[in-house]
Amino acid sequence: MKKLVEVRNLRAYYILRGGKIAVKAVDNITMDIKEGEVLGIVGESGCGKSTFARCIMMDFTPPLRKIGGKIIMNGHDLTNLSMEELRKNVWGRLVSMIPQSALNALPPVRKIGDFIYDVASYRLGIRDKEKVQELAQERFEDVKLAPYVLNMYPHELSGGMKQRVAIAIATLLKPKLLIADEPTSALDVVTQKAILRTLLDLKKGGIIGSIMFITHDIAILRQIADRIGVMYAGKLVEIGSVDQILYNPLHPYTKALINSVVTPEPEIRKRGIAYIPGNPPELINPPPGCRFHPRCPYVKGICKIREPEMITVEPGHLVACHLYSQEEG
Ligand code: SF4
Repeated sequence: MKKLVEVRNLRAYYILRGGKIAVKAVDNITMDIKEGEVLGIVGESGCGKSTFARCIMMDFTPPLRKIGGKIIMNGHDLTNLSMEELRKNVWGRLVSMIPQSALNALPPVRKIGDFIYDVASYRLGIRDKEKVQELAQERFEDVKLAPYVLNMYPHELSGGMKQRVAIAIATLLKPKLLIADEPTSALDVVTQKAILRTLLDLKKGGIIGSIMFITHDIAILRQIADRIGVMYAGKLVEIGSVDQILYNPLHPYTKALINSVVTPEPEIRKRGIAYIPGNPPELINPPPGCRFHPRCPYVKGICKIREPEMITVEPGHLVACHLYSQEEG
């Protein structure tokens, strides 16, 4: 599969107190997103998943600041584009996002249709009202919302309907990549399944090219993802196909994450349910070496002083852990 997004050595920190404090939320991530795939990104709350999504959207609103690295999308380096160029050529067209708080992001005093026009004119640079109306109606049909919803206020909609509105807005211009940040976490299981189905149908229908699906729930990725990337404390620690990650996890954190999930999947369930001791580290001053070392049952001397590099263990399956490095045996 062709690469749609190439992220290289990306670093993005929250710079606080006039530069005295740096929260290292995304710290040296290198990875690709392929054309037509669903890539799941999983990790505990606060591991940098949403910040990583903001970086791919080129949303470096302070206090978030890009410290280094590149984001290449569709062959173009997005790193140095102006706000005007992002609005005209990138947002909505190349990449779009359903933010984590999408259910609460709809302004209570604006009708849905008016809000869609606000977003289209400000964020996407489309100021023709009829054109926006036409696009919204077309996409509402795709996400199975009746056209009259355009005349409703957010409080008149269910959680599932609001999420469909958010999906319709994010896919107005048929983006090559849709980033969905925890799109199902506030919904009941039946609605969750319907939303996943809608996303996959949009991809099948060519309205979305690829999907980056962010979640803290690794079990949900079995239903939607082709590949899974695991993040811990601002780092990508493992990436591979769904089967490689769920049935042959290598990184001790991935193993712990899978073992701590209550899941009906028999293959995963038979491993038993465990919890991950300790807490994720402060990203202001993360542990030296491997950031997982204070919680890792396999920790050895090298782990406390040297950061493990990402290595390929089998085709398409990469892990950053000293247990798998040739040098360390
Ligand atoms: Fe554990 Fe060491 Fe691997 Fe980190 S590098 S996950 S501490 S074994």
